[in-house]
Amino acid sequence: MAENLNPVLQAENMVKTCSIWRALEVIGDAPILLILESIWMGSARFGKIQETTGLLKALLSDRLKKLTHKDILTKRNVPGLAKTTEYALTPKGAGLFSTVLMLYWWERKWGIAPARKDLLVRHENCGSILEPQTVCGSCNKAFELTDVDWKPGPGVGWMSPSYSRRRNQTKVQTDQPSLLRGSVEIMGDRWSALVMRAVFTGIRRFDQIQKDTGAVPNTLSSRLKALTDSGVLKAETYQHAPIRNEYFLTQKGYDYYYIIMMLMIWGDQHFAAPEGPPVLLRHKSCGGDLNPYVSCHSCTKAVTPGGVSIITE
Ligand SMILES: [Zn+2]
Ligand SMILES: [Zn+2]
Repeated sequence: MAENLNPVLQAENMVKTCSIWRALEVIGDAPILLILESIWMGSARFGKIQETTGLLKALLSDRLKKLTHKDILTKRNVPGLAKTTEYALTPKGAGLFSTVLMLYWWERKWGIAPARKDLLVRHENCGSILEPQTVCGSCNKAFELTDVDWKPGPGVGWMSPSYSRRRNQTKVQTDQPSLLRGSVEIMGDRWSALVMRAVFTGIRRFDQIQKDTGAVPNTLSSRLKALTDSGVLKAETYQHAPIRNEYFLTQKGYDYYYIIMMLMIWGDQHFAAPEGPPVLLRHKSCGGDLNPYVSCHSCTKAVTPGGVSIITE
């Protein structure tokens, strides 16, 4: 995390230690999410990934390199075909599957991205169209967010945000069908995801969100506008001269938390401080550790990367 610290932000801002921040440093990028989706849907070779994502060659090549370097993907020779290589998920990369499932759930629930309406995920165990749900690892029951307790974990603290590279939001526009086109706009933009994290923790005002995320004012204004426009946040004016707003989650925004939670669990597994995770989650109903995982609403079995197939209607 120490590479190329931005000296200005380092001096002025500290953000809460957060596995989500670290996870977003890897996957908070729209092209990367589209690549992961493509591989999840069965693409392995460069040409196929390019065709399904619609990304430019140079951009795709850059992100594949990054994903391989970060141990999300592995590059290997195709057996029997000299000089032909393909990409596959590492175990760490496969661990993102739960986050991807919840992105898919959220998009279906909120009817986003008409481009992917004909694509469906089937759960092979029961044969039904998959409706993913997050369940508690202790009692195996589905939970509401209101039924979850949060407390600081052993790794809680403050850190200076670091940036491997100053990066502009990469707009990806293709006509390729995608399961995740709408949620990629939030998750694929690190700032938007961090703004959501701040609001989830009860931070509502501009300057406080700025402090929590480390975003510069312009960046923050544009993200708050985009998130309000897309209906995950709503602004309420608490002061009129000059106008000051507080930001609240809509139901659509509240549901987004299931995605952030699964990303956090993944981040904890791979990027937490040596002392442990920064946040501990407890399921109030059963009293056990939440350790959430994703199961199928129909058969209640855990959903694994190999246990689903993509079908077209
Ligand atoms: Zn439980
Ligand atoms: Zn099932």
